[in-house]
Amino acid sequence: MTTLERLRSNLAALNLTAIDARLETLLENASKQDPAYADFLLEVMSTEADARRQRYLKTRLQLAHLPYVKTFEQFDFGFQPSIDERQIRELRTLRFVHEASNVILLGPPGVGKTHLAVALAETAIQSGQAAYFMTAHDLVTDLGHAYREGRLDRRLRIYLAPKVLIIDEMGYLPLDELGATIFFQLVSARYERGSIILTSNKSYGEWGSIFGDPIIATAILDRLLHHSTTVNIRGESYRLKERRKAGLIPRPEQQHDDSRAVAPSGRAKRTG
Ligand code: ADP
Ligand code: MG
Repeated sequence: MTTLERLRSNLAALNLTAIDARLETLLENASKQDPAYADFLLEVMSTEADARRQRYLKTRLQLAHLPYVKTFEQFDFGFQPSIDERQIRELRTLRFVHEASNVILLGPPGVGKTHLAVALAETAIQSGQAAYFMTAHDLVTDLGHAYREGRLDRRLRIYLAPKVLIIDEMGYLPLDELGATIFFQLVSARYERGSIILTSNKSYGEWGSIFGDPIIATAILDRLLHHSTTVNIRGESYRLKERRKAGLIPRPEQQHDDSRAVAPSGRAKRTG
């Protein structure tokens, strides 16, 4: 066996696939650049370590069940001036994850609540934390099934395990009594133990109508908000802007507060 063959067989035995894949390049560069022994060894080991880290992050990202992957770099803060960028910078440090405090993103449809929630989750995953994304509706449906089958406690553990739980679209659909009770249990169980990133199109004042019962709404808000940051987005839908750019909807005559949600298409047509 040549040295190269023995090297390959050792790499295979140790499952060092990334080094194996780059072996020729690594050796060629080394012969050209004549690096110090330690530098060469470092480059070889980093090849494997970096590849493993990438694989691990990819797995974490898949396990997080995100609806799409979007980052802060892809977010146009200029379009959404109601967002305090300093507050977002603070959130990006992930201190809230280490403190097990919550992030609540409020605002009308299309203003970037899910985008920001996903970007925070992605940041947490990059830093080695586990995250899990679920819509409020799917979450409560899933736990409702578990409850009826007498395995709520076991099922809850899935939503307690990740350091960051994203609950998207709270309030689009009202919860029934069981749903509200289950939601309360989840929020209580994660309280001071793991972060929740929650998005909602309803202001806190309207939460009573989500849960049907103002007492349980208060109890939930109490735990959710005790350690929390609220990001209140009052602005125009980004989706609407994109459609407007495509010429599907005419530009409004003047800037107006669009926080009441999207203008009905009939009116939009007339103003153009
Ligand atoms: P919602 O507030 O309803 O959750 P999303 O976060 O899903 O809205 O945003 C709708 C779409 O518009 C997504 O594709 C998102 O990436 C994009 N988007 C929203 N706001 C911005 C923004 N300020 N900059 C760039 N893309 C944005
Ligand atoms: Mg959304």
